[in-house]
Order: sequence, then structure tokens, then C-alpha cells
Amino acid sequence: MSKLPNIGTSIFTVMSKMATEYNAINLSQGFPNFPVDDRLTTIVANLAKENVHQYLPMAGYPPLLSKIALLIKKSYGRTVWPETEILVTAGATQAIFTTIQALIKTNDEVIILDPSYDCYEAPVLLCNAKPVRVALNDDYTPNWETIEKACSSRTKMIIINNPHNPTGKILTESDFEALEKLLLKFPEIIVLSDEVYEYITFEEKHISSHTRSLLLNRCVMVSSFGKTFHITGWKIGYLIAPEHLMIEIKKVHQFLVFSVNSLSQVAISEYLDVVSVEEIGSMYQEKRDYFRNLLKNSRFKLMPCEGTYFQVASYATISNENDVDFCKRLITEHGVEAIPISTFYADGKDLHLIRFCFAKDNATLEEAAKRLCAI
Ligand code: PMP
Ligand code: GLN
Repeated sequence: MSKLPNIGTSIFTVMSKMATEYNAINLSQGFPNFPVDDRLTTIVANLAKENVHQYLPMAGYPPLLSKIALLIKKSYGRTVWPETEILVTAGATQAIFTTIQALIKTNDEVIILDPSYDCYEAPVLLCNAKPVRVALNDDYTPNWETIEKACSSRTKMIIINNPHNPTGKILTESDFEALEKLLLKFPEIIVLSDEVYEYITFEEKHISSHTRSLLLNRCVMVSSFGKTFHITGWKIGYLIAPEHLMIEIKKVHQFLVFSVNSLSQVAISEYLDVVSVEEIGSMYQEKRDYFRNLLKNSRFKLMPCEGTYFQVASYATISNENDVDFCKRLITEHGVEAIPISTFYADGKDLHLIRFCFAKDNATLEEAAKRLCAI
């Protein structure tokens, strides 16, 4: 009998496979197609000849832990302790899985806000716990009243994703105030803050959980170097947690991966000395604006995009089909691939919206837009 009877193959795997079969332009799975920074590839090439190929300490390469602490201090003014509060993980996916396995018990409940990224639910189910999927408002703001109604003494975690995949929304000051009020009412709830797109925001500044003093003692913050440095295939990220939670998280981590691959840890540690995360937002803002401008005269209606490298678009004036069928036809008839937003909802809510990834070189965006404008 399956332990996960209702979980199938991820939509990103399904769509990317279809893109290859049909030779379509892949704007579905979120990954950049432009070259990685030369400085990083040079570091890797040089390091490959060095003695960096054996196990590193379980929590991470010590200089990398210190540099992550420095990055957080510079970005958010928060002091985190490298030895006790930082864990290097095999991507944000492993950070999320490990945190949930470590902190959630049988019959606990975990609040997940829909539409939601797909890696939250399965780890909750594997704990014999209950994912409680609460829909965001139609403008993708959180409905704190509904969220509070969904909370009870069984609720042990709320997962927030900020900036938000797939909608591109970011949380506001008043969202954090509402969350903090909720935490006062429910002292057992821990926040799992998925901030893999923390450096990809535009006009509005990202408010990180790192800056919320009321959250710090009850929050696990997750980040991904894959997203920040355009190296999604490296599968490396980290989590920050207060020591009392980290002790439990490390108990799981040591038996899931023990330590993350050495070459990428040492390479990123060196790269952090030369790279600046401040330019990432403006680089992607240019791409967002370029892509939106190319689609200006199309029949798609573009939703606001405050962060991430995803653009949500409505095809309601083009077709009445459900979004999965529309995306399939987009591939087979027009050679462009997108992700149907209904797949991010527990109940498959279909608002005729699809997600495009604009982390692509200009030639790819231009060709995709040409095809999309012809529809
Ligand atoms: N969370 C969100 C919201 C994501 O979009 C992704 C995809 N990268 C992840 C987590 C997983 O990140 P990683 O590739 O570092 O495991
Ligand atoms: N995070 C990526 C996205 O949203 C997908 C990563 C994956 O394929 N698991 O497109």
C-alpha cells in the first residue's frame, strides 16, 4: 500500500518532459537558461584540483557558515550564530523536508496557503500529520481571518512563502503584524518561512522573517543558493533556526544527507567574498519588464509581479479550457510551455491562470513572446 496514495509526479517533471518531447520553449519549470557567473565557474575549476573532495562537518563547511551569517547581517541586520543556528542543506527542498520531519508529530496540523509550492504537503503526510490547505484571497493576499479559523491546539506549523511561488506576491508589514498576533494566540505554532526568492524583489522591498523580532525564536527560515546564484542544479541552500529547534532538525539532517557535497560548499564560500546579492533584484526586474513589454499586445492579461521570476497570466479572453488542457495545447500547437496554476491548489481551483518563468535570456523571451502574441 502506498504511503502517499494521492501524490503523483510533480507538475515540473511532467511539463519539462513534455517540453523536451515537443521541442517547446520551456517557460514552465523555474530555472535560468543564461550562463552562470564566470567568477563562480573559475572558482569551481580551480577548486576541483584542490583537496576539497571529502566529507565536511555535518552542519556545513565552517567558513561557509560564517559567510552566511555575514550575508544575513548585511542583508537584514540580524546576528545569527554559525555553530548553532545555521545548517547547510541539499537545496531548500531538503531544508523543508528535514524541518517538517523533525518538528511535526502524528496528528499535528500544518497550515499551507494555497496556491502553494508542491514540496510542502508530502513531508507532512509522511509524519502522519494533516496538511490544512487554506486558500489565499483571489488577489493572493493572505486572509488572516480564515487562517486563524483554521488554527487550533493541533496546529503546530504555518508555512509561508515570501516572495511567493507561483503568484509573485510579497508579504506586507500588516501581514507580518497579523501573523505575529496569531502566534501570540497560538503559542505552539512554528513558522516555516520559505524565502528562496528573498533577493528577487522589485519595486517593494522584501520583508524577511529575519527582521521580525517576534518571530525569531519560533521561525525556521529557508533559503536557496540555487535561486540566488542561478545554479538550481547544484541543489544547495540553508536554513536558519533558533538553537532549540536546530537541535531537533540536525538529528534528522545527519541521517538524511549527513553533510552536503563539499565542492559546492567550498565554492560558494569563496564566491560569497566577491559576489553582491544587491544586483539580483534589478537584473530580474529588467527581465520582468522586458517580458511584460513583449507581451503587451498579446491577448494574455498579465497579473502584478512583485517578486520571484514568475509571471502569472490570465488566458480567460482566449479560451474556456481548463488550465491543464490549455497548457498542453500551448505546447503542442504553439511550442511554449507554462505551468497551470490549478496544480498549486489542493482543490484544483481553476481561474484560467498560467505561470511563465522569465529567468531566460532575451532571445528565448523574444521567441516565446512572438509565439504567445500570435495566439
Ligand atoms: N521553495 C520554493 C517556493 C521554490 O520555488 C523552490 C524551487 N526551487 C524550492 C522551495 C526548492 O528549492 P531548491 O531547488 O533549492 O530545493
Ligand atoms: N521551483 C521550481 C519551480 O517552481 C521547480 C523546481 C522543481 O522542479 N522541483 O518551477
